[in-house]
Amino acid sequence: NHLARARYLLSAHNVKQLPPDGGFEVAFAGRSNAGKSSALNAMCQQNALARVSKTPGRTQQLVFFDVSLPYRGPDPAPEPDKFLVDLPGYGYAKVPQNLQAHWQAFLDRYFRTRQALRGLVVVMDIRHPLKDYDRQMLGYAVSRDLPAHALLTKADKFGRGQQQQQLMMVRKELNAAFGDTVSVQTFSGESKQGVDEAREKVMGWLGL
Ligand code: GDP
Repeated sequence: NHLARARYLLSAHNVKQLPPDGGFEVAFAGRSNAGKSSALNAMCQQNALARVSKTPGRTQQLVFFDVSLPYRGPDPAPEPDKFLVDLPGYGYAKVPQNLQAHWQAFLDRYFRTRQALRGLVVVMDIRHPLKDYDRQMLGYAVSRDLPAHALLTKADKFGRGQQQQQLMMVRKELNAAFGDTVSVQTFSGESKQGVDEAREKVMGWLGL
C-alpha cells in the first residue's frame, strides 16, 4: 500500500503557501462529521493522520500529506510530488464573514487552476448523501473535466440490501447531474469495507 507512507507535509491558507504545482494530487472533501478523517486514516493505514486537519486554526486550510515515492539515489532528494489534500470539512465553527469569503475565493482558485489536481474524492455519510456542499465540490471537479469518486461512508450503519439500494440511488443521481466521470462506492472506516477499492482509485489518479 503506497498510501501507507503518507506524512503530513504542510497546511496552506493561501495560494502562495501551496507546494510547487508540478506533481500529482488528489483532494478529499466532505461535510464535517461525514467520516473523511476516518476514511483517510483507513486508506493510509494510520490512526491519526488526518487529526492535524482538525486542529483549530487549520480548519480553513488545505492540508497536504506527502505520498511521494521514496528516493534512494544520491542527494539531494527531489521535491515531493504526490499528495493527498484534505479540504476542510464544511460546517465547522462559525468563521467571520471576511474569512469565509477569503476561503471561498482560495478554494475556487485552487480548483480552477491547480494543474497537479488529478481527481476529487467526496466523502458522504451514506445516510445523508448529496447535500449542497457535496454538489458544489463535484461541480468544481466536473467543470474542469476532473474525475470524481464518491465514498458513501458509514456503510456499516446499513444492512447489505439497504446499502445497495442507496448506492444505486446515488449513482443514478450523480450520473444524471454530473455525467459518468463521477463514480461511487460504499465505504466504512469502521469495518474497512471498500477501503481497497477506494485506495486503488486514488493510487491510479496519482500514478502510483
Ligand atoms: P470528519 O469530520 O468527516 O473527518 O469525520 P470523522 O472521520 O472524524 O468521523 C465523524 C464521526 O463518525 C466519528 O464519531 C467517527 O467515529 C464516526 N465514523 C467515521 N467513519 C465511520 C464509519 O465508517 N462507520 C461508523 N459507524 N462511524 C464512523
